[in-house]
Amino acid sequence: MWKIFEPYFELLFPVVCPCCGSSIQQPDKHLCNWCAGERFEHSGLDPDLLLPDSVKLQFSMWNFDKGGYLQQMLHNLKYNYLESVGVDLGGILAEHFLTVHHRQLDEVFRHAEPVIVPVPLHKSKLRKRGFNQAGALAAGFAKKTGWKIISKGTVLRVKKTKTQTGLSAEKRTGNLKNAFLLKGKVELENRIPVIIDDVFTTGATTFELAGVLHKKSNPAVIVTVAKA
Ligand SMILES: [Zn+2]
Repeated sequence: MWKIFEPYFELLFPVVCPCCGSSIQQPDKHLCNWCAGERFEHSGLDPDLLLPDSVKLQFSMWNFDKGGYLQQMLHNLKYNYLESVGVDLGGILAEHFLTVHHRQLDEVFRHAEPVIVPVPLHKSKLRKRGFNQAGALAAGFAKKTGWKIISKGTVLRVKKTKTQTGLSAEKRTGNLKNAFLLKGKVELENRIPVIIDDVFTTGATTFELAGVLHKKSNPAVIVTVAKA
């Protein structure tokens, strides 16, 4: 019965890639193969990046492109409830992370287990947006890696921070000071937090979070979709 209506349904609600607008053939995918694959320049590990003691390594999958398409997609992900796109991206992120850096990862995770920590949102922002984009990424990342996500309520964002856009690196760090609060402890002992976020800019957010986690955990690994 429904089979008869399927072509009409697709005419009414075509499945298109939110990043480039081309139609998507596979029903279980939310990004086209081009945008999920070779469209954006690979980023990886930055050997010149100065990391605090609380961070073991920082990985970004893609660099922002000149046209701003990646930035636009991540903006839409955040503000237009593209939760399934986030989960897909999290899976792609995990694939890149595991294959590109398997040697470093074997070394990092030899002595302690990973635990995934999506950068938490302040509850007022969560209410406004309806979901946490880092949480969607973490869900896809966990599905692919089989790693555990930290229990809800263990790390809280307790400070309502102003938008970081346009702020200097120094101001960003000040803005984020005391933004996170750790409530649980057992889950982080002898663990390596794998902090997941959409964009890495100066590291103000993820470094602050890693510093808070480091009171109980090993130094963290930071994994983001893009590098600005
Ligand atoms: Zn696309």
